[in-house]
Amino acid sequence: MPKHRAPLVVLESGMAEDGYIPVDSRTLRTRFPGVYAVGDVATVGVPKAGVFAESAARVVAAEIIAEVRGGDDPAGYGGTGSCYIEFGAGRVGRVDVDFPSGPKPTGEYHAPTAEMAAEKQGFGSERRARWFNR
Ligand SMILES: Cc1cc2nc3c(=O)[nH]c(=O)nc-3n(C[C@H](O)[C@H](O)[C@H](O)COP(=O)(O)OP(=O)(O)OC[C@H]3O[C@@H](n4cnc5c(N)ncnc54)[C@H](O)[C@@H]3O)c2cc1C
Repeated sequence: MPKHRAPLVVLESGMAEDGYIPVDSRTLRTRFPGVYAVGDVATVGVPKAGVFAESAARVVAAEIIAEVRGGDDPAGYGGTGSCYIEFGAGRVGRVDVDFPSGPKPTGEYHAPTAEMAAEKQGFGSERRARWFNR
């Protein structure tokens, strides 16, 4: 696997520090007014994984909507996520991780079951339908 790094366009934008874009870990705002960063390019304190990028994007959407419409402050970024683990023979486990809540990251392991395999299937098919219309 190649070494992970932000794309050149990000590095040359002036927003990056030490290779990534620092953000407020609750609002995902950069130090530039009206500019947010999510996903692998942002330094949030969570691993660089799609599951965190997806939830971060929801937070940014909520922040922008609140800014435009006014109203209560959105809940902010939670920094939690789940990872499915394939065990073969139709069995799938899951680890739920929480990075920012406590003094150190925590993870809860759910042993593999056929039900979890169905859950993982649903996780994938829901996103394929939503993102790619198939
Ligand atoms: C082998 C592998 C396995 C992984 N497995 C998992 C997993 O099981 N679960 C999980 O949650 N995460 C997983 N990840 C991590 C996940 O893929 C990333 O965290 C996620 O894709 C980050 O999303 P992003 O939108 O921030 O960046 P990306 O998905 O990298 O999207 C950035 C996009 O910007 C484009 N781009 C770059 N430069 C330019 C430019 N100059 N102009 C226009 N476009 C540009 C790129 O082509 C790319 O399409 C895995 C990653 C790898 C490499």
